[in-house]
Amino acid sequence: MIDLRSDTVTKPSEGMREAMARAPVGDDVYGEDPTVNALQERVASLLGKAAALFVPSGTMANQLGLRLHAQPGQEVIVESRSHMVRYEQGAGGALAGVQFHWLATSNGILSPEQVEGAIRPRDPHTIQTALISVENTHNSGGGTVYRLKSVEQIQAVAERHQIPMHLDGARLFNAVVAADVSASEYARHFDTISCCLSKGLGAPAGSLIATSIPGAIDRLRRFRRMYGGAMRQAGILAAAGLYALEHNIARLKDDHERAKRLARALHTIPHIRVNPDAVETNIVFFEVIGTALPPSELVTALKREGVLLNAVGGSQFRAVTHLDIREEDVDTAAQVLRHILTA
Ligand SMILES: *Cc1c(COP(=O)(O)O)cnc(C)c1O
Repeated sequence: MIDLRSDTVTKPSEGMREAMARAPVGDDVYGEDPTVNALQERVASLLGKAAALFVPSGTMANQLGLRLHAQPGQEVIVESRSHMVRYEQGAGGALAGVQFHWLATSNGILSPEQVEGAIRPRDPHTIQTALISVENTHNSGGGTVYRLKSVEQIQAVAERHQIPMHLDGARLFNAVVAADVSASEYARHFDTISCCLSKGLGAPAGSLIATSIPGAIDRLRRFRRMYGGAMRQAGILAAAGLYALEHNIARLKDDHERAKRLARALHTIPHIRVNPDAVETNIVFFEVIGTALPPSELVTALKREGVLLNAVGGSQFRAVTHLDIREEDVDTAAQVLRHILTA
């Protein structure tokens, strides 16, 4: 199967499994898992922050960020199609008690003017803005990357209004590789940063949230416990994360090249509308138009030919490249699509 549904479908490599099997472990609730501690220090240092906390999922990392920064009844500025809005089961409202102030964009990238316009006045009538959250890369925006300059400008707005900034960096390392900006250069503009090990980095599970706010790690650790995310001999998972950080960051550029290659191939296929120039990282959104084939049937037909990808609403589809997708897989997937759409 050529599985282009998501970069979460990767399976741990032999080397990663060996690292997991060998990992020294302890009870992380007692702070005694040496591998978890090593991973937390490694990520804190990569992001230029004082500390980081290992959590089971990116959703939990984001939710701990919301819980840390916002009081129930406050508002969080986000892009309208961000992961926190669409794919976290309303946890921002359910668990942190926040209301989202969504800002619509064409490609997921907020402008500083938009953010500034959304900050609420500090008067007794109006809901208060607690946090600005930025997603980089932006998943539903098409794996789009923030220019460092835009982040700087958004942070200047945040600072002027004294509002903290959270980065949903589930795919921060894709942005790092695509923009050639270090993780810490991006991260210095944020008060908290979440990042996933289980997307393009290829680990089976795990995310981290990093911060330099004094005392925040202790509060985050308590919230992690509250949310059921405190684990015991989690070093087995952390070892996979350390392995991923060591071996799988630089190679993300291969995923980006393969996504671009796929978009260019799709561009030549009748009924497909795609803009290869819009592909910045490992995510390709494309449209299938002018065919009688409903999206779900196209997905089924592709599956029969050994290609998996997602229909994401209307005539839109999403394909994602990753560690387990070779260049020839991309070519095969495009051929299969051409065959089905021109049959
Ligand atoms: C995948 C993802 C997350 C976290 O997802 P989990 O499945 O909870 O690990 C967060 N933000 C973005 C943008 C993502 O793509």
